[in-house]
Amino acid sequence: MNSLYDLVLFQFKEAVSKDTIDEDIVEYLSAPKHEIITNFPIRLDSGKIKMFKGYRVQHNNVLGPYKGGIRFSNDVHLNEVKSLAFWMTIKCALQDLPYGGAKGGVQLNPYEYSQSELERISKEYCNSIYKYIGDNKDIPAPDMGTNSQIMDWMVDAYQKKGNIHNNSVFTGKSIECGGSQGRVEATGYGVVECIKLWAKLNNVDLCGKTYIIQGFGNVGSHTALLLSMLGMICVGIQDHTRTITTEEGFNVYKVKKHCDTHKSIKEYQFGTNIDDKDFFSIKCDIIIPAAKELVITKENADTIDCSLIVEAANGPIDIDAENILYNKNITIIPDILANSGGVVVSYYEWLQNLRREYWDKENVLNKLSNKMNSTFNKIYELAKSKNISIRDACYIYSIKRIEKIILNKKLF
Ligand code: NAD
Repeated sequence: MNSLYDLVLFQFKEAVSKDTIDEDIVEYLSAPKHEIITNFPIRLDSGKIKMFKGYRVQHNNVLGPYKGGIRFSNDVHLNEVKSLAFWMTIKCALQDLPYGGAKGGVQLNPYEYSQSELERISKEYCNSIYKYIGDNKDIPAPDMGTNSQIMDWMVDAYQKKGNIHNNSVFTGKSIECGGSQGRVEATGYGVVECIKLWAKLNNVDLCGKTYIIQGFGNVGSHTALLLSMLGMICVGIQDHTRTITTEEGFNVYKVKKHCDTHKSIKEYQFGTNIDDKDFFSIKCDIIIPAAKELVITKENADTIDCSLIVEAANGPIDIDAENILYNKNITIIPDILANSGGVVVSYYEWLQNLRREYWDKENVLNKLSNKMNSTFNKIYELAKSKNISIRDACYIYSIKRIEKIILNKKLF
């Protein structure tokens, strides 16, 4: 496999081979509609000018306006953004949302820039993609390396450039700037709903079961907090700085508090340091990759010993590793289902903004829980009835939804 986009196309073609999908539709979905690349200058705190490279890929908008996050990471490149945009098309269709799929990003290490530099980068990136986005066109949100503060800055740039007060063009904003209650924990909440549903269907009592989590940012930390409420024990954590483990379990509230101030687990004073490459071989019941893509490969898949892997991150398992894991009877809840809670609550935020409504947290999380339940159950049933993986079932459900609209409208 050469790139993340090869993984996406492999998954897509593997799934369509298990059903009857019009071959024109397969060809049509194989490439994104728009690939936007922009280079823009920013004056750094040192006084020097630096050029930054930004991307926005709009994969498909058959179901509605493009929707997808913006990533700030050194690894951002066209193939990565194309892959993430494709997955957004599938994810939105899977959750029956009136959205297509997109993704964006800026190539930079966010840990290396000051807050004022990040503000200027966020605003200038927004200015550079201004004409391609809009609340009925393309609606960005946070992803890895970005957060509600960055969305607030982008909204400010968008409003100033357009001389408008519209804030529904971005989701994942702070509550003060029109964000939704429950959005910050929504992705982790959705991950945990999936784990609960899997446990119920398989008669597993989660209390006392162990897990390891890669990434303790937005998705990882909220997932861990919610799992601790179920009595689950976190025996390993890895982030971009180190890997720590303990048999007695981490106090994830303390880890979160530490990360809120220190931005990583680097100086966290509990647990034993182990080599990064040994992380996935820590024995546990559930593995939750919640950081980056292509981390479970044929090099480490053999050493994995668990019952379930929940892809909180996008694309963490490569093609070879997936086969190894299936042969070991490990269940995989795929990214397009597991982390879809974020875009579901982004949709609720967009609706609230458009309708000038404010929903309370309980209402938002109840709606999200119902949505995750009905989506999980319909996909689990489809997978069972066709004797295919949950990932294949997700793709088939989503592609069939898109196919129906294309055929009804006679799009081509
Ligand atoms: P984040 O920036 O808040 O946190 C990222 C975490 O990953 C950090 O703890 C960081 O230390 C860790 N990390 C980075 N590089 C690493 C490495 N090489 N090894 C180990 N850990 C590393 O990002 P996030 O929003 O939590 O996103 C995490 C994943 O979830 C991404 O794949 C993202 O696409 C996906 N996702 C996020 C959302 C969302 O709402 N934020 C929604 C859907 C999917």
